[in-house]
Amino acid sequence: MFHKVIYSSLLFTTLACPTFASELNTALKSANASVSEKVITWRRHLHQYPELSNREFETAKYVTQHLKSLGLEVQTGIAHTGVVAKLKGGKKGPLVALRADMDALPVTEQVDLSFASTQTSTYRGNKVGVMHACGHDNHVAILMAVAESLVKIKDELAGDVLFVFQPAEEGAPEGEEGGAELMLKQGLFKQKPDAVFGLHVTSSLNTGQIGFREGPLMASEDSFTINVKGRQTHGSRPWNGVDPIVTASQIIMATQTISSRQVDVTKAPSVISFGAINGGVRSNIIPDNVELIGTIRTFDQIMRADIKTRLAKTAELVAESAGATADVHIDHGYPVTVNDVQLTQKMTPTLAKVAGAENLITTDLITGAEDFSYYALEVPGLFYFLGVTPKGQDAKTAPSNHSPQFYADEKALQLGVESMTQLVVDYLK
Ligand SMILES: [Zn+2]
Ligand SMILES: [Zn+2]
Repeated sequence: MFHKVIYSSLLFTTLACPTFASELNTALKSANASVSEKVITWRRHLHQYPELSNREFETAKYVTQHLKSLGLEVQTGIAHTGVVAKLKGGKKGPLVALRADMDALPVTEQVDLSFASTQTSTYRGNKVGVMHACGHDNHVAILMAVAESLVKIKDELAGDVLFVFQPAEEGAPEGEEGGAELMLKQGLFKQKPDAVFGLHVTSSLNTGQIGFREGPLMASEDSFTINVKGRQTHGSRPWNGVDPIVTASQIIMATQTISSRQVDVTKAPSVISFGAINGGVRSNIIPDNVELIGTIRTFDQIMRADIKTRLAKTAELVAESAGATADVHIDHGYPVTVNDVQLTQKMTPTLAKVAGAENLITTDLITGAEDFSYYALEVPGLFYFLGVTPKGQDAKTAPSNHSPQFYADEKALQLGVESMTQLVVDYLK
């Protein structure tokens, strides 16, 4: 999934005022060093007490208490449990937003840790274990540390920083709104930041590595339901009814040609996958209805809209040709996550500086989705991956994010803190 890329030393920019810049960097280094133990403690606590999407009540309190202890003015209850604080730098300059998502998943932890989660909750009516299986505990702890570190050097900062602790990245419970989209709706970017940065831990990279790419990085995600209505009849006399099972199969096959035959594969890849087929009860009864559900992934917002139109049209017209009907409902999910090309190029030397050029990896396109995409639609954004599979272990075979065995090496936290703080300092420079 990831390729190593060699960055030449030419990428390291020379600094306008070397003395001042090196003083600031020295101050930043010592500020970062002072949070290196705390970030581990915070992450362990957050890991032990995970909360599901839109239910991050204790997490939000934990974050709020910390931000207040730093003397920051804190806003709470944004998009249900979101927490936002703004740091004013000592000098005038741009505004940078930093985002951490706070929610966990309905997964029962299988990792043998002294601080493993034993929390449970209710998800879709079922009692479930709760685990930070996507690693958002790391994101929260890192941003708490970043806030503390930047507060220490605030007098030297030429601009302001908005700390965004966001709920419900994994999706709000059914019938609820949440996440980045709701935070924006509630005015998060009323004062538009000049840039937004976010990171995600990944088991696909080793500790010490940072992965990203410019332009499209992660896919858009739209889920759909197709209800194929036929007319019930005996299985021995299909001509007396309209068979929704055969029609549904035709729809499945026909929609596969959208990605392979109808959209420009040289521009960007796309995926249409069906996840369930429901219909019928018995071998010799043709049912009235079949329900199909699935997901669409794209890397281009125009292609995304086009594929949705084609999917609906294909399903409806195939059904019509069989004398059936197809009701297509598309649930609009997260947009394509796009790393602003200029911003990414500008900040690459910073990431090379903190991680070492040999540890910067150009990621392949990722067909997973992220609601950081909403922020990056509003302002130039850079989203990057932080490796958390311990050095010496094969990241290719490590249990992936969302697995009950997902393991994040806490040694990786410090690079998370260093990369984010350095992005801020260098961007505001
Ligand atoms: Zn996730
Ligand atoms: Zn995640």
